[in-house]
Amino acid sequence: MEQTAPSDRKGSDDKLAKVDGDKRLLGEVTKSCRDKHGRWSNPWPTWTRPCWLADLFLLFSNIGTFLNNNVPTSEEVLDAELPVMVPYFVQRPSSVLNSSEYTAPGLQVTWLGHACVLVELDGLNILTDPMFSQRASPLQFLGPKRYRRPPCTVQQLPRIDAVLISHSHYDHLDAGSVASLNSRFGGEMRWFVPLGLKDWLVKAGCENVVELDWWEENCVPGHVDVTFVCTPAQHWSQRTALDSNNSLWGSWSVLGPVHRFFFAGDTGYCSSFLEIGRHFGPFNLAAIPIGAYLPRDLLRAQHVDPEEAVQIHEDVQAEHSVAIHWGTFILSNEYYLDPPVHLREALEKKNLPPDRFFTLNHGETRLLSSSQARPFHW
Ligand code: ZN
Ligand code: ZN
Repeated sequence: MEQTAPSDRKGSDDKLAKVDGDKRLLGEVTKSCRDKHGRWSNPWPTWTRPCWLADLFLLFSNIGTFLNNNVPTSEEVLDAELPVMVPYFVQRPSSVLNSSEYTAPGLQVTWLGHACVLVELDGLNILTDPMFSQRASPLQFLGPKRYRRPPCTVQQLPRIDAVLISHSHYDHLDAGSVASLNSRFGGEMRWFVPLGLKDWLVKAGCENVVELDWWEENCVPGHVDVTFVCTPAQHWSQRTALDSNNSLWGSWSVLGPVHRFFFAGDTGYCSSFLEIGRHFGPFNLAAIPIGAYLPRDLLRAQHVDPEEAVQIHEDVQAEHSVAIHWGTFILSNEYYLDPPVHLREALEKKNLPPDRFFTLNHGETRLLSSSQARPFHW
C-alpha cells in the first residue's frame, strides 16, 4: 500500500503558530495513504469500498423517506421527543457575545445538532463540523432535510477561535454555515481541515485555513499551549460526481494545557482509535457518532453503531463522551430514537455508567470541568 510522502508544505505565516506539518515524535502509527489513482484510501482491513447498492441506498435515502426511521411529521411530537433548547449563550448574550474578554470555562460542551458541538476548552472556543442549514445538500430544495432546527444562528454564537472539519460530506462541510461563520469571524478564526480541503475553503473566502495530514499538528495563533492534531478516521469523502476521495477525512485531537478533547468526526470502527488513545489519551471529552448505522451491511465500514461508538470511547481513553451524528437528519434506516437507546444498552453491557457517554438535547450544555488553564509546557 502506498504511503504518503512526508509533508513538504512550508510553515504557516504567523510566527506564533507552530510550523505547519510539525510532527510530534510518535511511535508506530497508521499513516494516510492513496490508491493508484491518487485518491485517498483507508489503510485498515475493516474498510470495504461502498458498493453500488450502498450508493443507491444513499441516493434514495437522500431523495425520499422510504426508510423505516419513522420520524414523525408532527412538530409537537418531535418537541416532546427531541426538544430544542435555547443555548445558554443565547439566553445570556451580554455575558459572552462580542466579548473578546469572554473566557470559556475549563471544559464545557454544547450540542448544536448532528456533528456540530461547541467545545470551550482551556480558554478557546472550538466548533466542530458547523451545520446551521436546512439541508445537507448542494441544493436547498433537495437532499437530506433536518427535522430538528438548529438551536441558534451563527450570529448568536459566542466568539469562535477554531473550527474543526472532519471531511467534505454535505452534512459535515456546509457551504452556508462556512459563509456565515467567515463573514462574522473572518481571519480571526482558524479553520482546521484534513489534506485537500484548503482550496475549497479558500475559494469560499476563508483566509485562516490550516490543512493537515494525519498526525500533523498546528495551533491557533496566540494560543500555542493548545495543540490541534489531525488524527485518522475510517471514512471517505465526496461532494461531486467526480471528486470522491480527492480530499482526506479524519478525526481531531485537541490537546490543551489542562484538558483534552477528541472529535471522532464521521467514522467506521478501525484500529487507529487505539493508537490515538495510546498517543494522546486520556481525553477528558470525546464527541463520537452514534447514528446513521442501518442497514449494517451497507454502512458498517463508514458509520459506527452505538456499540462500536462505546468501543471508540474506551480505545481513545475518554473520561466522558458526548453522542453526535444522530437526531437531526434522516440519513439511514434505524428508528430515529434508537441510537441513544442502543447506546445505553451498550454501556450497560460494559458496566459503564450512563453519564460516561451521554446524549444532550439540541442546544443543551454540559460543564465537565471548571478548572482554569494553568501554565504548562510540553
Ligand atoms: Zn460522511
Ligand atoms: Zn455524516
